[in-house]
Amino acid sequence: MLLSNFSHLQLCFRGLVNTFSTSFLSFFHRSNPLPIMASATPITVAYGDGIGPEIMEATLHIIEEAGARLEKHVIEIGEKQYLKGNMAGIEPSAFESLRSTRVFLKAPITTPQGGGFKSLNVTTRKAFGLYANIRPCLSYDPFIRTKHPKMDVVIVRENEEDLYAGIEHRQTLDVMQCLKLISRPGTEKIVRYAFEYARAYGRKKVTCFTKDNIMKLTDGLFHKIFDEIAAEYKDIENEHWIVDIGAAKLADTPEAFDVVVMPNLYGDILSDVAAQIAGSVGLAGSANIGDGCAMFEAIHGSAPRRAGQNLANPSGLFLGAIQMLVHIGQADIAERAHNAWLKTIEDGVHTYDIFKEGISKEKVGTKEFAKAVVQRLGKKPEVLRSVDYSKAPKRPLTTRPAYVRSNENRELVGADVFIAWTDKVDALAAKLQPLAADGMVLEMISNRGMKVWPGGMEETFTVDVSRCRFALPEGSGKSTNHDAILALLGRITKAGLEFVKLEGLYNFDGKPGFSRGQGQ
Ligand code: NAD
Repeated sequence: MLLSNFSHLQLCFRGLVNTFSTSFLSFFHRSNPLPIMASATPITVAYGDGIGPEIMEATLHIIEEAGARLEKHVIEIGEKQYLKGNMAGIEPSAFESLRSTRVFLKAPITTPQGGGFKSLNVTTRKAFGLYANIRPCLSYDPFIRTKHPKMDVVIVRENEEDLYAGIEHRQTLDVMQCLKLISRPGTEKIVRYAFEYARAYGRKKVTCFTKDNIMKLTDGLFHKIFDEIAAEYKDIENEHWIVDIGAAKLADTPEAFDVVVMPNLYGDILSDVAAQIAGSVGLAGSANIGDGCAMFEAIHGSAPRRAGQNLANPSGLFLGAIQMLVHIGQADIAERAHNAWLKTIEDGVHTYDIFKEGISKEKVGTKEFAKAVVQRLGKKPEVLRSVDYSKAPKRPLTTRPAYVRSNENRELVGADVFIAWTDKVDALAAKLQPLAADGMVLEMISNRGMKVWPGGMEETFTVDVSRCRFALPEGSGKSTNHDAILALLGRITKAGLEFVKLEGLYNFDGKPGFSRGQGQ
């Protein structure tokens, strides 16, 4: 089966073009090659941890031999920085480099377990507003073994929100909590990006994965915005799958999908699945795109067990770097290096992770793989389709209408007060009921989301924190205020109860902006 490498090229482009200026694009769209004396582009480079330094050296070797004109600003990130006490894994001064170059080629890092360390990737993506993570996953059949020879999927992962907001708390002895945040502007940006991407590269369909049958407000918003924006792109087919069955279908029949957009966590997991079933996680690169900044990396981690052995496959980072080269206007170099890489893959020169007896010809280490690609510079693949980087979109894909915040009327109608409690729930209800005032009543108590009062079941397992809902009677048409809520908290405290958290209950144009308790 021939692989559509043209699609690969398109995929690469999709992530890249966002921050191009129009004049720059028109410059690299000229049919003439870039001037030989074109100046070097400043980029920030980090060698990372584990296999990071080896694959970065290999990647830079190939692209520089191909003619990349780079002014490299090397920064230290990762484990060493964490262990020096920089909790985000990066020296504050290194952010200055990123702020000035606005292009970051980053090798994977090791995030030490526990100890309150923040993920550098998440911090960088969020600090620089890199909201779109573009992960092309396609097969290189018949040269890299895959059960899915026709696979050609682009995962467009939301990069800043969802459970990756990193807001976690230990509430009580029993309970840890992680907040899942989905915002309208964040979702509008990523969903529109997915459709713009599909349109720019002649893709036929955008699929959305959510779990909105369970998370009706958060994933429900993502799905709703997907439907709203899809309606503006009548030339592109759209569909929605519940993420569990969608994931099963993606793993089984990836050729059924084209562009798939999803919230952060699902996208993180499923892009690894997609890359692995296409051939290897070691093969996929990704672009993290924002309005004014971009970061390019491999999708895999630092694989510490493989470090320092000249074993790792540099292809993921290399393909990320190809996207970077197009992004910075060195599309001719990207094309030359990418075609040499395809030829190397086609010639069966493979690292251990993709090596298969009977398919591969030569098992090589990281350095030897890079040398093999360099030897093939100027060549094109004969079976796989060669890439052609002359068809990039002529405008940034990040262009979008200004966000218009809704003018719905927001009214406070009560509060969920989370109270530490280990005794029987009826005893808690008896203590709380007399404390309700100002028109509010104790409407229900839930434990781990499940209603346990009134009318709970003895069998329901409970932990040491209960959510106690104080609200105005539904449909009363009235609202309450913060003084009433503060007074309620005062009475709760005076009664010897400990509240660990409060969430306001708001109606929006009369519609509840909160979920009911399970079983309510
Ligand atoms: P991993 O992706 O690093 O490695 C998993 C396995 O995949 C490895 O044992 C190896 O067999 C294989 N593999 C991955 N990349 C390969 C390559 N280029 N060539 C050949 N084989 C490859 O995942 P992990 O072991 O879960 O994570 C290790 C560390 O990486 C953790 O500290 C994690 O936090 C970090 N991580 C970093 C990033 C990043 O920096 N972008 C991403 C994911 C994980």
